[in-house]
Amino acid sequence: MKVIIIGGGIGGLAAALMLHDCGIEAQVFERSEEIRELGVGINTLPHAIRELANIGLLDALDKVAIRTHELIYQNRQGQTIWQELRGTDAGLDMPQFSIHRGRLQGVLRDAVIERLGPDAIRTGHTCTGIGRNDNSATATFLTINEEELDIAGDAVIACDGIHSVVRRHFYPAQGDPKWNGIMLWRGACLWDPFLTGRSMVIAGGMDAKLVLYPIANDDRPDGKVLMNWAVAAKMGDGSTPMPRREDWNREGVMSELLPFVENTFSLDVLDPLALIRETGTFYEYPMCDRDPVEQWTFDRVTLLGDAAHPMYPVGSNGASQAILDARCLADRLAECGGDAAAALLAYQAERLPATSEIVKQNRGGGPERVIDLVNQRAPDGFDQLQDVASQQELEAVVRGYQKTAGFDKASVNR
Ligand SMILES: Cc1cc2nc3c(=O)[nH]c(=O)nc-3n(C[C@H](O)[C@H](O)[C@H](O)COP(=O)(O)OP(=O)(O)OC[C@H]3O[C@@H](n4cnc5c(N)ncnc54)[C@H](O)[C@@H]3O)c2cc1C
Repeated sequence: MKVIIIGGGIGGLAAALMLHDCGIEAQVFERSEEIRELGVGINTLPHAIRELANIGLLDALDKVAIRTHELIYQNRQGQTIWQELRGTDAGLDMPQFSIHRGRLQGVLRDAVIERLGPDAIRTGHTCTGIGRNDNSATATFLTINEEELDIAGDAVIACDGIHSVVRRHFYPAQGDPKWNGIMLWRGACLWDPFLTGRSMVIAGGMDAKLVLYPIANDDRPDGKVLMNWAVAAKMGDGSTPMPRREDWNREGVMSELLPFVENTFSLDVLDPLALIRETGTFYEYPMCDRDPVEQWTFDRVTLLGDAAHPMYPVGSNGASQAILDARCLADRLAECGGDAAAALLAYQAERLPATSEIVKQNRGGGPERVIDLVNQRAPDGFDQLQDVASQQELEAVVRGYQKTAGFDKASVNR
């Protein structure tokens, strides 16, 4: 069996590795001329790390990432609403990693090249269309030399992200991703560690939220770590078009961001204004997703990762769910006895309902809803948290989300 993978992001590279692990030949076709380590910080959750550990990547990840010790939700005055240990510190079998997205992609890329060979990733190939018949599926690519190539395989897996051409092929009327009126600015800068040095803080209220966590500790003589930050601020109610087309690499404008940070947060852990001012290039990304669809699999073609279930980047799920998709897809193909179309349907049956639910929950704020809840009831802060929200109420939001997304302790340690 030979599988054609469109897109060399985290989803596509993970799929190639999982397929190889099952003894299935795979080749990745990526639009960019090289797979570069782009992006800023992401968190990768223990259930996804388990799948990467099972294919022998835990040590490589440990070298470039930080094992997230704890997660703290605060209001904008810096009062703690929720605090919990994460990953192995919480008794799970696997860590949660705070990691530079590019470094995660680099670990996967290096493993693909080492295990599948240098020809396994063909860069400079932009998918322009697909075709399918009973016995095979074909992807058409335009190379950087303007050459058109048809590549056939037993299955074609579209891992080409939120603007997937393959998804558009099947859903030509879907239009642009949906924007909810929130802009996300993201950056990273060398900074002094706070709390345990492995803590993650999400603070704020309905109008603006701030996310802080270190993503690399390179043991520098000055003790500084690479501190990731993100600010999510409400610019509208989502009824207006996006100010600019969404693009993970669009540079942010300081004068547009600062009004959402100045006089907004008063935190003990660090001064966000100073951190942001010190950051050189940072990026903006309108918070957008797409409505879940009812079908990913069309005969021998299917969707994976953001192409299948683009979701708001809350709750740390984009990359993790793509890795889980990859594992499931490879397992179903490995056990299908040559019936790739049946395997892709089985993959869809398992992964589509699970991820659609996360897309929906993320629209409501995911686990960060505890911050909104407290902010709505006590915008100026509180004396006693339990007067504003009970532990049970907060727990239902946070633990409920963990269960839905599949990284609660029982699911990870099964
Ligand atoms: C440059 C970049 C930076 C990001 N930064 C962050 C971040 O800082 N924080 C965060 O939480 N998430 C970030 N993400 C998103 C996150 O990585 C994804 O949500 C998640 O990993 C799912 O990955 P994916 O492989 O499904 O999609 P993606 O990561 O979007 O990867 C899709 C890949 O397909 C390629 N591709 C697209 N169209 C075609 C085509 N027609 N033919 C061939 N190849 C094609 C793209 O070049 C890309 O390499 C970023 C994504 C990108 C692409």
